[in-house]
Amino acid sequence: MALVVQKYGGTSVATPELIRRVAERIVSRHKQGHRMVVVVSAMGDTTDDMLALANKVSSRPPDREVDMLLACGERISMSLLAMAVQDLGVAAVSLTGGQSGIITDAVHRKARILDLKPDRLLEELHKDQVLIVAGFQGVTTDAEETTLGRGGSNLTAVALAYALKADVCEMNTDVDGIYTADPRVVPEACKLSVVTPDEMLELASAGARVLQSRSVEFAKKYGVVIHVRSSFNENPGTLIKEVEEMEEVVVRGIAHDLGEAKITMRHVPDRPGVAARLFGPLADKNINVDMIIQNTSEAGSTDLSFTVGKTDLDRALEVCQGIRAELGADEVVADAQIAKISVVGVGMRSHAGVAAGMFQALAAANINIHMISTSEIKISCVVGQPDAEKAVRALHAAFKLDKSS
Ligand code: ADP
Ligand code: ASP
Ligand code: MG
Repeated sequence: MALVVQKYGGTSVATPELIRRVAERIVSRHKQGHRMVVVVSAMGDTTDDMLALANKVSSRPPDREVDMLLACGERISMSLLAMAVQDLGVAAVSLTGGQSGIITDAVHRKARILDLKPDRLLEELHKDQVLIVAGFQGVTTDAEETTLGRGGSNLTAVALAYALKADVCEMNTDVDGIYTADPRVVPEACKLSVVTPDEMLELASAGARVLQSRSVEFAKKYGVVIHVRSSFNENPGTLIKEVEEMEEVVVRGIAHDLGEAKITMRHVPDRPGVAARLFGPLADKNINVDMIIQNTSEAGSTDLSFTVGKTDLDRALEVCQGIRAELGADEVVADAQIAKISVVGVGMRSHAGVAAGMFQALAAANINIHMISTSEIKISCVVGQPDAEKAVRALHAAFKLDKSS
């Protein structure tokens, strides 16, 4: 008898019919003798719809109130799913993140888990019930509601799998597993049977939204093996775990991210301390900066460009405008029409030429590169958003990731 933690994403519970289907899946596993802890996301586009609502009543919705609102999305699906399971004759109980013992810090909208106290979950499990937990949320020690960042239900599932020492941590979604690129963009993409945690972390942080990068980080740190699979069939999916291969694959996959925007500060004086003066206040406001480039100095000044999440763009611009005069920069400009395209693979550690191959493929497709950054196992290029899909397909073909290759 295994302890199974499953997560169902928003598309898998988007309608009452789908919720009943998910309930049947859960009940069938329960009837095989497994103890089931199920984490649910908000139905369909509920989270986006709620954010849009917030933006209609407020020019700047306060983060605390946004969390109060967004946490409701997962509570709607948890209660409906628990009802649907009970309707099939199996005892089930729904629990919020707080009731499940997910204790976080107080950084609203991207709270970090500080502690896991699964006592209530264990108590309910002993009553032989199916547990349905609202994903994406936690509570502070002061009983404030928090959310764990977009895609945070993945993190809830991994954290509970760790806290409960689950045998399995399944992410049930609307694709059959992790592919060599987003299968909606590249129809020739191949499903991978295994992806290493390092590669998955890079793919996720590069925009492959199928798993939240923080959940992969948590799983890597605490040794939780994730199984990504479809909510709609029983096919084996993709395991996220360490593998020992005779020869490492050089490029495992291509990811693209339309969620970032570029900010450029023009004619910043080229002197010590400028970058610290700019990026310090951004960090203080919990704004994650991704890529940074600084042009070579011309007549004592340079252009400084960096990318932030689109959702942080307004706040980041405000910070930049606030210190522009102090820094002596000319102007601050933003470009939200960008896409980040990344090539990921652990084999890059020992193989040269991937960057050159990437630039050649983009050049052959006549795609201009705005920014470049590299890590040990990833190369990312920022291109214009209209070129995003063309770039992904060109790179997928150039690195011979297609089914036919
Ligand atoms: P859920 O609602 O289950 O959380 P998401 O929409 O957040 O699902 O994530 C699943 C989507 O991620 C897929 O429908 C697919 O379009 C996208 N995706 C992006 N990159 C990949 C990839 N490499 N492999 C599989 N899916 C990917
Ligand atoms: N509902 C949240 C979101 O849309 C969390 C999740 O789906 O994992 O980001
Ligand atoms: Mg998701």
